[in-house]
Amino acid sequence: MEKTHDAVWKNCLQIIKDNINYQSFKTWFEPIVPLKLENNILTIQVPSQFFYEWLEEHFITLIKKTIRKEIGKEGRLEYSIIVDNSFNNAAPMTIKLPTSNKNATQNQAVNMPVNINQDSSKEIPNPFIIPGLRKIKVQSQLIDSYNFDNFVEGDCNRLARSAGWAVAENPGKTAFNPLFLYSSVGLGKTHLAHAIGIQVKNNFPEKIVLYLSAEQFMSQYTDSVRNNNQNDFIHFYQMIDVLLIDDIQFMGGKEKTQDVFFHLFNHLHQKGKQLVITSDKSPAEMQGFEPRILSRFKWGLAADLQVPDLETRIAIMQKRLYNDGIEITDDVIEYLAYSITTNVRELEGALVSILAQSSLNKKAITIDLAKQMIDKYVKNNSREISIDFIQKIVCDYFGIPVDQIHSKTRKREIVQARQIAMYFSKIMTKSSLAHIGLHCGNKDHATVLHACRTVKNLIDTDKKFKGYVDELENKIKI
Ligand code: ADP
Ligand code: MG
Repeated sequence: MEKTHDAVWKNCLQIIKDNINYQSFKTWFEPIVPLKLENNILTIQVPSQFFYEWLEEHFITLIKKTIRKEIGKEGRLEYSIIVDNSFNNAAPMTIKLPTSNKNATQNQAVNMPVNINQDSSKEIPNPFIIPGLRKIKVQSQLIDSYNFDNFVEGDCNRLARSAGWAVAENPGKTAFNPLFLYSSVGLGKTHLAHAIGIQVKNNFPEKIVLYLSAEQFMSQYTDSVRNNNQNDFIHFYQMIDVLLIDDIQFMGGKEKTQDVFFHLFNHLHQKGKQLVITSDKSPAEMQGFEPRILSRFKWGLAADLQVPDLETRIAIMQKRLYNDGIEITDDVIEYLAYSITTNVRELEGALVSILAQSSLNKKAITIDLAKQMIDKYVKNNSREISIDFIQKIVCDYFGIPVDQIHSKTRKREIVQARQIAMYFSKIMTKSSLAHIGLHCGNKDHATVLHACRTVKNLIDTDKKFKGYVDELENKIKI
């Protein structure tokens, strides 16, 4: 007796349900619609290419086994994928998956010829298509003043800026996809990412542009898992034409988020959508990322932003003052540009402090005022303290090479230096335990937690130790 596709799929679901967790079952199997069973080929409909790839990567072994069990050795599976709903003639494409062939790999399946079957999907309800979704206005989260006009060009940023410009003129169509921008803090990554987004909106108002930090992406994803609406999350991101993700380094060590991001990346890239990613390190130096993701980051162009030279620093300040309608004599501007060489954010901070000082005390902005301010400013500084910086100070203090902290060694003095570096990283930077661990010898978050407790205990019980820590604290803060 011939079994129907419904009955076969129902049995398959029973088996699958027993083998995976409820959440995954609900997310990845309930939305599947069985379409037909002909010549031992079961055709199932999945809502998107992304969905198909996810199944292939995460559940293929289970699906293969199940199909063979239900249909027999000859059993095969075909996917019918609903093409992106932005195309009006939502034509499903069919990808054949020879489940009876043990050697069938994911790639072979993807490269199989595609059958377009116009009729069958039209009446089938698709839980992923939310009516009118394309019309929803996505809040791009772009800051107006971070535009190209306000971004001063210099040798330090020429490549990154011009690649950003090219991308904004032709999103998704240049070789710069992804465009990967990296530098240390305060050198204009965030500004440039916004500038690209703003320029795309100017050039192509209909394009959906989204700027967000990697942290935001991560927490949205976590929320979606908790609220059981991962599908909406994924679907939302699939609609984006230009995705600007800032500070991707915060995804380091976050496997689940990376996994989702990896698939999203592939999906968007394949569809010719533009990705712009920023990071504090080059792809080659990043830690805590899966190789497959790092290799994606290298597909396009990785461009760095460097500390601007004196002329560029002066030009940046002049532009800022001009925009704000403030006049300051050239000698003061030059003095500031000479004194602050680290990054643009500090330069701006100093400028703002001087303006505040002068208006509060009704003093003219003179070189003297600038000098006083710089002295104070540089001492009280608002410099951002990095894990690398802490490690350097701690190692110098104890007279050990920094690379020892990253090594696996259990030598007492190194372990202690490592623990102290972890402790200061926890209290003086915004980094997570996992992030700190990653940068202190690839340890996990529990090790960092343990280190922080140990150091705290020693401070309370050991006077000499407390002396070291106090001294170090002063050194780090200066
Ligand atoms: P990052 O993201 O690399 O830490 P930001 O983009 O936040 O740095 O830049 C810090 C500040 O410096 C911002 O206010 C930004 O507008 C300014 N800035 C950085 N580079 C430039 C530049 N080339 N021209 C004008 N302003 C800049
Ligand atoms: Mg930034």
